[in-house]
Amino acid sequence: MNQAVAADAVDHADTREAHLFARQQAFAHSLRHTTAAQRLAKLEQLRKTIEAHRADIQQAALADFSKPAPEVELSEIFPILHEIAHAKRHLKKWMKPTRVFPTAAMMGTQGQIRYEPRGVTLIISPWNYPFNLTFGPLVSAIAAGNTAILKPSEMTPHCSALIASLVKEVFQEEEVAVCEGEVDVAQRLLALPFDHIFFTGSPQVGSIVMQAAAKHLASVTLELGGKSPAIVDDSANIEKAARNIVWGKFTNNGQTCIAPDYVMVDQRLREPFLKAVKARIEKTFGTTEQAQKENPDYCRIVNSNHFNRIQGLLDDATERGATLVTGGGSEAEQRFIAPTVLTDLSMEAKIMEEEIFGPLLPVIFYQDLDQAVNTINALPKPLALYIYSKDKARTEQLLTRIPAGGSCVNHSVVQFLHGNLPFGGINNSGIGNSHGYYGFRAFSHEKANVRERFSITHWLFPPYTGFVRALIRLTSRFFS
Ligand code: NAD
Repeated sequence: MNQAVAADAVDHADTREAHLFARQQAFAHSLRHTTAAQRLAKLEQLRKTIEAHRADIQQAALADFSKPAPEVELSEIFPILHEIAHAKRHLKKWMKPTRVFPTAAMMGTQGQIRYEPRGVTLIISPWNYPFNLTFGPLVSAIAAGNTAILKPSEMTPHCSALIASLVKEVFQEEEVAVCEGEVDVAQRLLALPFDHIFFTGSPQVGSIVMQAAAKHLASVTLELGGKSPAIVDDSANIEKAARNIVWGKFTNNGQTCIAPDYVMVDQRLREPFLKAVKARIEKTFGTTEQAQKENPDYCRIVNSNHFNRIQGLLDDATERGATLVTGGGSEAEQRFIAPTVLTDLSMEAKIMEEEIFGPLLPVIFYQDLDQAVNTINALPKPLALYIYSKDKARTEQLLTRIPAGGSCVNHSVVQFLHGNLPFGGINNSGIGNSHGYYGFRAFSHEKANVRERFSITHWLFPPYTGFVRALIRLTSRFFS
């Protein structure tokens, strides 16, 4: 531990966070020796506990933001169970050292990559999918043989309290502990010299986390957000595009990191696209504001701060001349904003500058595709890119031209559910990946190992006689 780290650790030595950290640091060494079977046994315990508390999980999400039970099942419980099942199928293989072929200069040696636990890890999670985004990374941390301190969000207190009690049922605090609380708890944790920090949240806080990690040179995985665009070109199946965009946008009341933030649509599809989206919203949530309010399948905004922020985006857009295609109504007391579609937007409107994270869908019409690509690429790199098109060449072009963390063609959001794909952002939308093998790698150090067998590298050692010099020249020329 260097001087700066030692000073920090002393400053915070008397906090619960520092005590937990010290206990986990002492325990982490024993986990380095654990086998796949031992790690999977813990994950099996976690699985059983989550299954046993299904109803409690649904109840907590309902209490915090009226999240419908089927949505809790699909977007909170299923991803965790899937992550555990996936680890069960593959962990033994993931943990096995990988043999690599020797390069020409390393003939006569054996190379391998060994996967080691990073050590003591910190998982800070957001409120929008509280169980999924806390337990998902935890599965990877355990699979990779780490200890973990979890800091769930203070904005969903019922969910956070349940997370703490579920963790207590399965783990000793030396291995996994939960620190509930406000931002000050996260700040005290971030002052400690963790080996790895896995953060899910906004780009603004992501930057704070990375600065704190830099102090201790902790590695980081940052799962952030941003404005994820959808493009609908003139060849697209409009009904399918409308169905999948409406689902991706309004699930969880738009409070999804990979929700389509705004849609860019070919100008020629203006009328049919708006008609299809409006019809889909009405079919899903009801034809009147009252019906939508009473619909149990429509979640609520998490708190009044976020309600006011989203209402502010809507007011600013309409004041600048946006047209309401559908929705626009709201009720502060219930933190309800109707599923809303807007068009004729000024690109200077705030809604086109910041991540919406609520049930507002701006639709922008483009004349030519280059214009759409330039508009998207003028914003920070998004977490997701959605392309609705039947034109394979054009789809390929768009995938190549627009940088994004992940992407879907003719669908929204489902890239999150694919266990064999990495999930992560790029720059402003994130650093590193999670899920399955990629989650295991995020929580592992890949240690390179070379085993000497009969290599001739020692022929290049000094003293540099004429013969050795000639050999070095030959090596540089022929084995490079
Ligand atoms: P947030 O960044 O405000 O908070 C996330 C966590 O950080 C919380 O636990 C909070 O207590 C903590 N935190 C807040 N301020 C902090 C500070 N100054 N110092 C240290 N810790 C602090 O995010 P949120 O509002 O909970 O979630 C919404 C954001 O998360 C959106 O931007 C969304 O796109 C993103 N998100 C990303 C993913 C992903 O997988 N990439 C998933 C869900 C949400």
